[in-house]
Amino acid sequence: MQFQRLRLSGFKSFVEPTEFRIEPGLTGIVGPNGCGKSNLLEALRWVMGANSAKAMRAGGMDDVIFAGSGARPARNHADVTLTIDNADRTAPAQFNDDPILEVVRRIDRGEGSTYRINGREVRARDVQLLFADASTGANSPALVRQGQISELIGAKPQNRRRILEEAAGVSGLHTRRHEAELRLRAAETNLSRLEDVARELE
Ligand code: ATP
Repeated sequence: MQFQRLRLSGFKSFVEPTEFRIEPGLTGIVGPNGCGKSNLLEALRWVMGANSAKAMRAGGMDDVIFAGSGARPARNHADVTLTIDNADRTAPAQFNDDPILEVVRRIDRGEGSTYRINGREVRARDVQLLFADASTGANSPALVRQGQISELIGAKPQNRRRILEEAAGVSGLHTRRHEAELRLRAAETNLSRLEDVARELE
């Protein structure tokens, strides 16, 4: 999977629809202070399913919506679209029929986010797993924000391990294992209840 294009509208300082082409290889973002470099990186994390306000440098999730400036009124929604080339068919099975994937996250003030992949509404978890399986994702070490290198050097071993797991593409497997364990526990509870009922009937 190869990222091709990032489109933003109403996201933080990007009030007008704005499109960035992402070429193969390493991408660096340069520009004067306050021009929106970090906002751009945050838009990429956000569309991949980042759900912590802290990671978005925001008080609440609605703070990613353009808050108004000077004569421009605030917006009530924001959306970010990430276009991915899936010609190598490495996306998870349920999305693998399409050579191009368009992942859209939209937020409406006070109403939370919705996600779509190629027009079909999906859960946040589907989007997070799509990127986790591709060894990228909102926490990917491929996205280097300001101060991250020094944070990495000072990180605890458990946190460093999480970064390595994300890079190795196994973090999606951890999520699935956790969900499978929860389902197994629920099934065991049901089974023991069933045994109680069966014993009473004997
Ligand atoms: P630096 O080089 O100083 O780190 P930067 O290029 O990374 O700067 P950002 O931090 O991405 O800049 O952008 C900061 C700008 O985004 C500020 O002017 C801030 O007011 C604006 N901004 C952030 N959130 C919003 C929002 N919700 N609505 C409007 N503007 C916003």
